[in-house]
Amino acid sequence: MKKCVWLAALLATSISLPGRAQAPVSEIDSHIAAAKSAAGLDYRATFANLCFPNPPPGGARGALGLLAPRPAPDPATWYASPYQVFDNLYWLGTRQHSSWALKTSAGIIIIDTNFAWATQPEILDGMAKLKLDPKDIKYVILSHAHGDHDQGVATLQKNYGAKVVMGGPDWEATLKRAPDVAGGVPVRGPGDIAVGPEGYKLTLGESMVEIVFTPGHSVGTLSYVFPVMDKGKRVMVAYSGGTLTGAFGTDGRRWDEYIDSQKRIAQAAAAAGASVILSNHSEYDGAYTKARLIAAKREVGEGNPFIVGPQSVQNYFTVMQECATASKLRNGAK
Ligand SMILES: [Zn+2]
Repeated sequence: MKKCVWLAALLATSISLPGRAQAPVSEIDSHIAAAKSAAGLDYRATFANLCFPNPPPGGARGALGLLAPRPAPDPATWYASPYQVFDNLYWLGTRQHSSWALKTSAGIIIIDTNFAWATQPEILDGMAKLKLDPKDIKYVILSHAHGDHDQGVATLQKNYGAKVVMGGPDWEATLKRAPDVAGGVPVRGPGDIAVGPEGYKLTLGESMVEIVFTPGHSVGTLSYVFPVMDKGKRVMVAYSGGTLTGAFGTDGRRWDEYIDSQKRIAQAAAAAGASVILSNHSEYDGAYTKARLIAAKREVGEGNPFIVGPQSVQNYFTVMQECATASKLRNGAK
């Protein structure tokens, strides 16, 4: 009897090493395998970056863009021409980061800006090239308050009177920034919108952007579902507002919040029959490549390169959920 107790104790210690409550490797691997299979060739970068995080020197903050160089880096490394990618959606991005203009009968909604140094050459000059007038900008929706997506917003607000839409917690973080931060700090006034957990429906003209509150990448990240027109045909877009998981460590609540958010936007995308997946980083949605493909002559029956179909859109969110679940287990988070 005594021997049995001793043996059981020994087995228990060998199975669960002190201080390392990591899930069995096979369980982690099964989530990585599920993510890999959902990723296929289309979402390889999303899969690799999320399932096998490789923090940059200087920590995650460095990669988020707030510490990005203030003088513009050499345009040869980032400049991209603007493109009209649907009847009413325009891509105004660099090779790495995306901004979008959604044109409606009552004005323009800009979705995400970029680093401050891209505001003039990409957003403003890009709009002029595509015959869009910045004076028509009514709203700027920011998926999250990191410098690589929001440094252009104060300029658009100040110069064109655009109303700013941001997740409530990200608004709070923005307003606390030092006044000399690159691009300046937007102000929150009447007409600006702080989106809470229940989400928001932003209507302008005939367009309605369903805003889904998807905290995780930042505390107030927003994702969207909205219609665009492809040669007169209505197509639904799902927009993933934030991709990488943070340094959540063993904080199970943060991991679960991220995973629940991906489920929520995936459900909204499925309900709307979304067949386009967009993001704010080209490495995740291939926007830079797809935008250039717009210029290529389409064969008979060939669709818009941004339309990937409802299953592929769901696959994208499956990659995010499965990689986050694998990382949560790997970190021993409960
Ligand atoms: Zn970010």
